[in-house]
Amino acid sequence: MSFKIAVLAGDGIGPEVTAEAVKVLQATGVAFEFENALIGGIAYDQKGHPLPPETLDLCKQSDAVLLGAVGGPKWDNVQPASMRPEVGALLPLRSELNLYANVRPAKTLKPLLQASPLKGAAGMIDLVVMRELTGGIYFGQPRERRDGGKTAVDTCVYSRHEVERIALQAFAIARTRRREIVSVDKANVLETSRLWREVVTELGAKNPDVKVTHMLIDNCAMQLIRNPQQFDVILTENMFGDILSDEASMITGSLGLLPSASLSDPKDGRLFGLYEPIHGSAPDIAGQQRANPLAAILSAAMMLQYTFSDLGNAQRIEDAVEKTLQEGIRTADIFEKGTKLVSTKEMGDAIIQRMT
Ligand code: NAD
Repeated sequence: MSFKIAVLAGDGIGPEVTAEAVKVLQATGVAFEFENALIGGIAYDQKGHPLPPETLDLCKQSDAVLLGAVGGPKWDNVQPASMRPEVGALLPLRSELNLYANVRPAKTLKPLLQASPLKGAAGMIDLVVMRELTGGIYFGQPRERRDGGKTAVDTCVYSRHEVERIALQAFAIARTRRREIVSVDKANVLETSRLWREVVTELGAKNPDVKVTHMLIDNCAMQLIRNPQQFDVILTENMFGDILSDEASMITGSLGLLPSASLSDPKDGRLFGLYEPIHGSAPDIAGQQRANPLAAILSAAMMLQYTFSDLGNAQRIEDAVEKTLQEGIRTADIFEKGTKLVSTKEMGDAIIQRMT
């Protein structure tokens, strides 16, 4: 039996970094069947839509999706704006695939510790931000201008079901880690936050093997800088998660190296998910073999962990990444004096050689 992976390489450096991630997945020896499909600007050019129906169909028929990146200056002014790659491909892909749980690990890679803006050991973090991705103020209705444009309205809505399903995923992920969840809200002000806290507290009582605490968003933003090591899993709603996940990424100092997963409900006993680097299509270096493929490769490791529960191979990849960096092998973005500069492809090869 083989697992089917939809590979959506996309634009800019997307194809270069995705090729290395696929190579690494093949090197695990797991029976994967990869199928490519168009997404983003290239899909708009060739098919007239940034998310062609056949791409969406392929994703729905697959066990997991590996995405590169979409967008670039060529498509910035496409009209209507709904046909631009980021809006016309990424948002509908998330909603069509029901990817409601965004998982962003922020883990400092030891050999790159000096890149963290927090000096010394303070920058050594290993946490996961779990962000609700399909609800809250980014999606609530009404969203409109009133009084001839002089007043603007956004609406924040959460249902019990929406909070429950992401909280349950956070419990599952916490169980693979230190078993500590900090649920972040603004329960002193917002009604949606009071519901959020109520539901998470109830689930905490039913899952006593995981420690659950609550923190207000303003305090959490501060604590992340003051003492980031206190966090294991941060569970939060859409907008707070948007901000906190970027803040946490920055502490690692290597924004370009970070992977992410967007998860849905289990399908055929496996957690369906889309895996992608958090960086964009980097049009400034596209096609030059200068891109760092590590975020894409670590996204592939997340796929092994979350969708295929293959913790062994996920760890093999993570260890190989750390070893490669430890040995001073670097792509241009993280190059420093005394290290060895390699291309995108050579970095992929170096990881595979070290996958013992
Ligand atoms: P970006 O992440 O593409 O690039 C920012 C800077 O980081 C650039 O200098 C780039 O060269 C560098 N960089 C990024 N990834 C790198 C890598 N793997 N290796 C080496 N250097 C890397 O962000 P941007 O410039 O703001 O956006 C460029 C395009 O990507 C835009 O069209 C934007 O909309 C799109 N974008 C797409 C996604 C996505 O597909 N999920 C996410 C963010 C941005």
